Amino acid sequence: MRDFIDDVKIKAILEKSRNPDKQEIRAIMEKSRKKIRLEPEETAKLIQVEDEELLEEMYALAGEIKQSVYGNRVVFFAPLYIGNKCINNCLYCGFRRDNTSVERKTLTMNELEEEVLTLERQGQKRLILVYGEHPDYDADFMCETIRKVYETKTGPGEIRRVNINAAPLEVEGYKKLHEVGIGTFQIFQETYHHETYAKLHPAGDMKSDYQWRLYGLDRAAEGGIDDLGIGALFGLYDWRFEVMGLLYHTIHLEEKFGVGPHTISFPRIEPAIDTPFNQELKYRVSDKDFKKIITVLRLSVPYTGMILTAREPAPIRNELIPVGVTQLDAGSRIAIGGYKQSEIGQIPEKEQFQLGDMRSLDEVIAKVAELGFIPSFCTAGYRCGRTGEHFMAFAKPGTVHSFCIPNAILTFKEYLLDYASEETLKAGNKLIAENLKRIGEENPKQREIIESRLIMVEEGIRDVFI
Ligand code: SAM
Ligand code: SF4
Repeated sequence: MRDFIDDVKIKAILEKSRNPDKQEIRAIMEKSRKKIRLEPEETAKLIQVEDEELLEEMYALAGEIKQSVYGNRVVFFAPLYIGNKCINNCLYCGFRRDNTSVERKTLTMNELEEEVLTLERQGQKRLILVYGEHPDYDADFMCETIRKVYETKTGPGEIRRVNINAAPLEVEGYKKLHEVGIGTFQIFQETYHHETYAKLHPAGDMKSDYQWRLYGLDRAAEGGIDDLGIGALFGLYDWRFEVMGLLYHTIHLEEKFGVGPHTISFPRIEPAIDTPFNQELKYRVSDKDFKKIITVLRLSVPYTGMILTAREPAPIRNELIPVGVTQLDAGSRIAIGGYKQSEIGQIPEKEQFQLGDMRSLDEVIAKVAELGFIPSFCTAGYRCGRTGEHFMAFAKPGTVHSFCIPNAILTFKEYLLDYASEETLKAGNKLIAENLKRIGEENPKQREIIESRLIMVEEGIRDVFI
């Protein structure tokens, strides 16, 4: 069976797009400005831009598009690793089956509860649960862990949205997760390049089946999951090819389900304990190309969330937020049981790879606020049915501003009152005041609505949203 990734065609399009003409690039950018998803031939031309002046224009436009679709907010979440047992041998991953340097561990329900309590006490509201691929981690087990997370609460602390990053399931499995109530299901294709995929995922492993993975999110949609997260692991193959792969995946989901992915992730490969493959990467992505990847994706798929994880060091995250990133994890610990031992930092023998950004949630929030972005813990979209197709219909006319910005302000205020350090509280209140002033100038009624809700939050009412 052929799939929707045609390697030969992608290479041919990229080859044909070399040395693009300036006028042509500016015409493509006009299409992006109108927030129309680009065609592969157009994206390939953006990929091939080397001219510094044009690149600067592209970065600026990416920021403008993000601002117009999502506003000046950044959504926060944290990863929570449930277990690192794995039956696969992906060459780049610290959790691979043959890696004897890793301590294998699955959280018990009590340990999971402790991890969630720690996260809630830091102010987290949204988690992504991560699992190795193992028969112990079937859909029923995942459901048990998700239920546990939702029912664990402390004071004003609760987790309001659970996303999942796990191996692809059968439709029946996704149905079970949908019933328990998850947000996004993420599957990264790792590399869209068939030949490289086969080299990195040894034959006979579950993960060696490229198409099982490629259509994993189709089955998720069939199982009722609205929000699908795609991604590629950058550094395994030529980044230009992977960006094209992500676009073709987007187009496939749009054509089949009427709506593209909810989020795109673009992790770069990081070192992992006893994982020599990651030391000599032929396709390692430079910081400059990484910025281009995010920019081209933002211009090509304007309506999709874009996630920049704590794999990246703080200065890179600070620089790239304005180029179109919509979600950040912060205060992340990825060792199994790592939140309880937060102060230790990295614990390589329990981790899949090394993180680049070990700042606390409060530190990242303070920085993001300083950059002028409103940190958001909003989960209303998911609970108001603003997901999947509905989200896109809702996002397209730009009305996100009527809900998402107010809800960002309200959830940020909750964070400030319940968890922030004194400096963050001060900086956050200033940011909220500036935003209210701006909103009031554009739409006085809107400001009144937000202010009345803010009074509720100040009076101690929680989970207030519009
Ligand atoms: N085990 C499941 C799977 O492979 O689909 C769940 C996801 S895995 C725990 C999460 C993701 O981490 C992988 O899809 C991969 O993209 C990424 N990853 C693996 N090794 C990595 C490394 N060395 N550096 C950065 N990201 C890595
Ligand atoms: Fe296992 Fe996932 Fe790591 Fe592959 S990437 S070895 S499937 S945990």
